Amino acid sequence: MRLSRYFLPTLKETPAEAQIVSHRLMLRAGLIRQHAAGIYTWLPLGFAVMKRIEQIVREEQNRAGAQEVLMPTIQSADLWRESGRYEAYGKEMLRIKDRHERDLLYGPTNEEVITDVFRSCIRSYKDLPLNLYHIQWKFRDEVRPRFGVMRGREFLMKDAYSFDLDTAAARHSYNQMFVAYLRTFARLGLKAIPLRADTGPIGGDMSHEFIVLAETGESEVHCHRALLEKPIPEGVDYDTDLQPIVDDWTGLYAAADEMHDTAKESELGDALVTARGIEVGHIFHFGTKYSAPMGATVTGPDGEAVTVAMGSYGIGVSRLVGAIIEASHDDTGIIWPESVAPYHVGLLNLKTGDAATDAACASLYETLGPDRVLYDDREERAGAKFADMDLIGLPWQVIVGPKGVAKGVVELKNRATGAREEVSTESALARLA
Ligand code: ATP
Ligand code: MG
Ligand code: MG
Ligand code: MG
Repeated sequence: MRLSRYFLPTLKETPAEAQIVSHRLMLRAGLIRQHAAGIYTWLPLGFAVMKRIEQIVREEQNRAGAQEVLMPTIQSADLWRESGRYEAYGKEMLRIKDRHERDLLYGPTNEEVITDVFRSCIRSYKDLPLNLYHIQWKFRDEVRPRFGVMRGREFLMKDAYSFDLDTAAARHSYNQMFVAYLRTFARLGLKAIPLRADTGPIGGDMSHEFIVLAETGESEVHCHRALLEKPIPEGVDYDTDLQPIVDDWTGLYAAADEMHDTAKESELGDALVTARGIEVGHIFHFGTKYSAPMGATVTGPDGEAVTVAMGSYGIGVSRLVGAIIEASHDDTGIIWPESVAPYHVGLLNLKTGDAATDAACASLYETLGPDRVLYDDREERAGAKFADMDLIGLPWQVIVGPKGVAKGVVELKNRATGAREEVSTESALARLA
């Protein structure tokens, strides 16, 4: 993409309303524009990152055996009356009436919708296990929308729902998502810690929040230091018993604030980390909480009706854009991990209009591929080009000026380390291929 044609409305001034660095950088680097409180338009650069995150989430869900569907954003209130949540959900739910005065709502989550699909399609235990997910917009009328897309009112979530014959099978589905989450966040360049979370009246140990450490996070985290350095499981066969992996991860102490056991503070001493964090995912086994009132049953092996055991598994896709920036930036701007970068390379032409420099840039641009390169071909000062490129945080910069072109060299800069080296055009191409 040529920057001269790209819709990238960057801001020179730091917006006053933005309290945390990710929000400031998302506005300054032209990723989003606020439409109303907690509601945003995604501009090309921000949208490109969000789609990359979405794709990694999708690949890891598929790998773990979940199947993608797409449920509606607008839901019927009657389903929520069946589950008993219509009144209980309170003011966070956006309630709507259609022209016939029927009650609708903008879905804050989808347990009811998916349970309704399940009960109308699945009859036999032989069709289990089943895990269905979608990546869809949600609306929650948060009391205090803030921190940009981190706590929006409209936000993009991946939510998966598992259906099993009994708790033992449901535990396997839960473990599949647990492992998939470890892999997903690692691929996004994040260190996400699974914390034991409150299961409410259901009890048990099957609820974990995945938290990325960040000073601006809204959750308090208590965990064993060793969790921060644990290697991510690779090459997992999701059909085998995953309990050993889950036990390995949950064996070290890690709890959300409301689950924290203060006795651990003296027991663990220096090994205990207490910090702030951002909730990027949440997995939850809730048994028959929705299947029982909504009548989601299957015929079991002995011919009897069995109420299915369910779990739900969320990832905040749009929140992750902010969380990644919180985890990866410096004073000059964003530093995208390669896996989510909107473009791999920023190509800087330091003397637009100079025939030799233009030709060298055009050739690099074509060879590297316009889909992977953002080419700054604007007639701007070099300083402004450097600042903008650092701000938007592409992993690599190729800096091309007339002096270098005369010698057949360009400058290659790594955004994360700041390291710059002069290399031949050929070796720059080879390095970035
Ligand atoms: P929070 O504690 O931050 O309010 P939650 O526990 O209410 O989140 P869940 O119902 O567990 O959220 O939803 C699954 C995921 O959706 C969360 O882990 C989070 O990443 C994301 N999410 C929830 N609310 C928002 C929001 N208002 N804006 C952006 N992402 C959100
Ligand atoms: Mg919430
Ligand atoms: Mg929460
Ligand atoms: Mg949660």
